[in-house]
Amino acid sequence: MLATTILAMAAVLRIPFALRESDQRMVDPTMVDRGRKCGCICPECHARLVARRGKIKVPHFAHAAACPGAYETCIHRAAKQIIEDLGFIWLPPSITRVIPSRFQFASCEPEKSDEQIRPDLTLRSPAGRELAVEILVTHEIGPGKLAELQRRRLSCVEYDLSHLPRTISYETLKSQFAGGKLDARWLYNRKDEEEKQKRKEAIARARQEAKWRWVTARKSRYGVTVYHVDHCPLQKRWYRGHAFAYADTDCQACDYFCGTRGNRQVKCGGHASPEARQRWAEENQLNLRLCSSPQLA
Ligand code: SF4
Ligand SMILES: [Zn+2]
Repeated sequence: MLATTILAMAAVLRIPFALRESDQRMVDPTMVDRGRKCGCICPECHARLVARRGKIKVPHFAHAAACPGAYETCIHRAAKQIIEDLGFIWLPPSITRVIPSRFQFASCEPEKSDEQIRPDLTLRSPAGRELAVEILVTHEIGPGKLAELQRRRLSCVEYDLSHLPRTISYETLKSQFAGGKLDARWLYNRKDEEEKQKRKEAIARARQEAKWRWVTARKSRYGVTVYHVDHCPLQKRWYRGHAFAYADTDCQACDYFCGTRGNRQVKCGGHASPEARQRWAEENQLNLRLCSSPQLA
């Protein structure tokens, strides 16, 4: 008898949100009547649920039967409902926007049906810009879907809800979405891809414009042989009115360094056109910025 009771207890699944039948809204147990009167069902299998909340137990919905997809579906549906209600989402930093930004949308279509791709939400800005939203709970987006996003050049942001506490309340999840407190990342960002392409082309041009500079061996005042590249366009160092750079230390660490021919020549992009150099410099700063860019936290 005791073993049966323990087995029965173990079979009860706890989920934080459920579908309220009367208005088809996702709710947590504090938003409905206690017990069987809650009028809620599992959004996955439509089994009737029991709202449990008490002084000791964390509020949850009890699901009597095993239902492998219940947790994932309830988080998905709650998240989508919250985004729809808010009318905006926080976008993570990107190459073209280095701080999180707010995306206000005019329309929101859940699971927009399509032959090859079905984002969790498709948002449309007042200007008509489309943005796909994916909610990650347990299953990451597959390579096929990712390739399709890239092919269509449809920007897509993913919210990672895989680490949410399983006892989270609806209000807490809502405030995390509203405050941009959730982990988010770009699966594909059209503007970033365009910018990357532009930078790549400019850098390729700058590299083409790079010139071979002779390296001159000189004796330093301490009798050591040093290797100079004279007329360094970045004016790394000065000697008697002439700009130069040390071929081994300055050039090798320089953003415009493109290679060497033995120790006789250095290929220097510092002479490239100002426009190409600007892009080149931006690219190098950009890498630094991305490494230290703030997350939505
Ligand atoms: S590679 Fe850099 S440090 Fe060397 S000469 Fe060119 S601009 Fe100066
Ligand atoms: Zn279920």
